[in-house]
Amino acid sequence: MAGRPEALTVALERKPAPARDGATPLKVWHEKEALGGEPCDAFVVILRTSGCYWAHTRGCTMCGYARETLGREATAAEISDQVGQALREYRGEPYVKFYTSGSFLDPHEVPPSMWGEVAHAFEGKARRLLVESLPEFVTADSIAALKSRFSGEVEVALGLETTQEDVLQKAVTKVSTVQEYLDAARRLRDLGVLPKAYLLLKPPFLTERHAIEDTLLSIRRSKDLFSTISVNPVHIQGGTLVERLWRRGLYRPPWLWSLREVLLRGKEDVGTGVRLVSFPTSGGNTRGVHNCLSCDGRVLRAIEKGAITQDYEALQNVLSCTCQEQWEWENSLEALAP
Ligand code: SF4
Ligand SMILES: [Zn+2]
Repeated sequence: MAGRPEALTVALERKPAPARDGATPLKVWHEKEALGGEPCDAFVVILRTSGCYWAHTRGCTMCGYARETLGREATAAEISDQVGQALREYRGEPYVKFYTSGSFLDPHEVPPSMWGEVAHAFEGKARRLLVESLPEFVTADSIAALKSRFSGEVEVALGLETTQEDVLQKAVTKVSTVQEYLDAARRLRDLGVLPKAYLLLKPPFLTERHAIEDTLLSIRRSKDLFSTISVNPVHIQGGTLVERLWRRGLYRPPWLWSLREVLLRGKEDVGTGVRLVSFPTSGGNTRGVHNCLSCDGRVLRAIEKGAITQDYEALQNVLSCTCQEQWEWENSLEALAP
């Protein structure tokens, strides 16, 4: 519609029509992770809810999760059914992750009565339970609901993305400020919860080099507050502003060489006290972090090995490729642009 800001048009277009079936979780899968420095199996569930309230108003430039929501609030009975279905696939993994396409701790997405139910389902079975939330939903009450029903470790992930306020507000367009994220991480620590940060590598409107330095600065500024920092390279999700830019040739997802540099330099910064990881979505294809596509497999394997073991020697020594020169050349060319 003429005159409507593009970001709002994108937000309206990606909102799905209300769905009838709210009793089935969006996704359930098993993956490799690590606990206490040892590789382990993880159980991952994504519940189908109304999703992030911000995504329906404007949303973040790279986030297309709104498409995977119910288009309405789920009832308590529906969420209970989803959890029940997911539990049937649990194989006793020690690391359990419960997500929504928004905030698990938003009472409009997951009723507060279910927070404790989910936690209790893994009592005596899992060592660690992770949920993700916007900072405003991290309160003494929401955390107590989890911790009072689960005696293992509780971990809460925050999508901080960057510690640079201008990048967060203008390039990512988050609803919360950097300070709100950092305050929430402090609250989590005080409440005996492990805070985990997701940092975004290469939001739109940043050059490749600016993006690398933005993430490295964010690692440095957040390392004292988080026990794990996970670097998420942007991948092109449907129904996002980033997808529109990418289709017009105005955006390229980050290079794997950039992610390698971030992990190697970032690990030197954080030392052994903080886990620095990356498990890229769509790695090695044109919608995700990629190089020339022929060397991508070996770089991705070295990244995964480093993320699990925290030993990045294999990534340091990964065989070079002719595309590395192109990456360096493009970096220096972008630096000349006004
Ligand atoms: S706050 Fe998170 S879930 Fe909400 S639109 Fe932004 S990235 Fe997506
Ligand atoms: Zn290559």
